[in-house]
Amino acid sequence: MITVNENFLKLKASYLFSDIAKRVNRFQEENNDKQIIKLGIGDVTQPLPPTCINALHAAVDDLSKTDSFHGYGPEQGYAFLREAIAQNDYSSRGAQVNADEIFISDGSKCDTGNFQELFSQDITIAIPDPVYPVYVDTNVMAGRTGNNQDGRYEGLVYLDSTESNGFVPAPPKERVDLIYLCFPNNPTGATATREQLTEWVNYALEHKSLILFDAAYVSFIRDESLPRSIYEIEGARRCAVEFRSFSKNAGFTGTRCAFTVVPKEIEVYDSEGKGHSLHALWNRRHCTKFNGVSYPVQKAAEAVYSDSGKKEVRALTDYYLENARIIKDKMSSLGYSCTGGDNSPYIWIKSGMKSWDFFDDLLNRAAIVCTPGVGFGNCGEGYIRISAFNSRENVIEAMNRISAM
Ligand SMILES: *Cc1c(COP(=O)(O)O)cnc(C)c1O
Repeated sequence: MITVNENFLKLKASYLFSDIAKRVNRFQEENNDKQIIKLGIGDVTQPLPPTCINALHAAVDDLSKTDSFHGYGPEQGYAFLREAIAQNDYSSRGAQVNADEIFISDGSKCDTGNFQELFSQDITIAIPDPVYPVYVDTNVMAGRTGNNQDGRYEGLVYLDSTESNGFVPAPPKERVDLIYLCFPNNPTGATATREQLTEWVNYALEHKSLILFDAAYVSFIRDESLPRSIYEIEGARRCAVEFRSFSKNAGFTGTRCAFTVVPKEIEVYDSEGKGHSLHALWNRRHCTKFNGVSYPVQKAAEAVYSDSGKKEVRALTDYYLENARIIKDKMSSLGYSCTGGDNSPYIWIKSGMKSWDFFDDLLNRAAIVCTPGVGFGNCGEGYIRISAFNSRENVIEAMNRISAM
């Protein structure tokens, strides 16, 4: 008899996106004349930058000739891409990351989900609430939690992100071993200052904990005072892993390329307290379970760092940020308290009612789809997330409809 990994049965079925789809479909059936505008999605809408497309075409042609054909590549990624990342994302900002500390992958979802495999069953884990669901669910699958009780898993330390802490939780009083952080944040759009990240790094160093820092939205930061990488914080090379992706900056959500930085200084400990290189462990795992990202896609990602690629990515993110500004200005002028939207493509809006009630209101009265905040965690109740990933035209039309409500 084939038996199941019962940890999977603990997973709270994620009704969020199927619930949204059900309500949207029902509305559309009853109102087939209405043009629905979807501001719920966390996916980009604009095409890839032309410089990436050119690189992709050229790389495909390379594969057609014997002397430039590429078979299996290095699992960690091609040196051309790892070096471009080290130079442009780190050295140029005064953060020290070497090319051989960068692991190219097919997504930050996979990397943030897989990384917990390296740690023992009995570690304590701190996870923000509200949160990108991958961090919680992968630890549930791995058996590091009890059951879900009223929206929270037993055994996890939840870091409440609320209005009172500006949606940036401080380190907990108790000791935790593994900490998930994401800034600019999905779903709240909040950003963390240098001082706030310094507190976390100091906490991790003091407790020999590890920070998993998800920087998927870093290219939306415009405020020069905000850190662009956890490695701009002193000591982070000894306690933090950083995840980045080409999904949201260059629109690679369907093309697939991301990377994880594991500094060689970081040690993790066995039951006798002896230190082991985290870099060596992740390298072992990555090479065993991953075949590398395809050559054409890595060439397209490399093109992000060319002069024209940089300009095009800047224009893309500027486009979404202008959408975000329009949304935030309108919602604020209507009296809603909003977070995010300045250095982030998400606007987190205090709805003044239950998340799903506001969702239904927007759908039924304005044919607009948002994401109910409670779907990201208990602290999201009373909020909705509006995404700036859409066309300018749709965003303006959506704001006009909300004004008219
Ligand atoms: C979109 C997103 C990512 C990127 O995921 P990919 O798998 O690289 O597409 C990572 N973290 C968060 C919080 C995200 O919203």
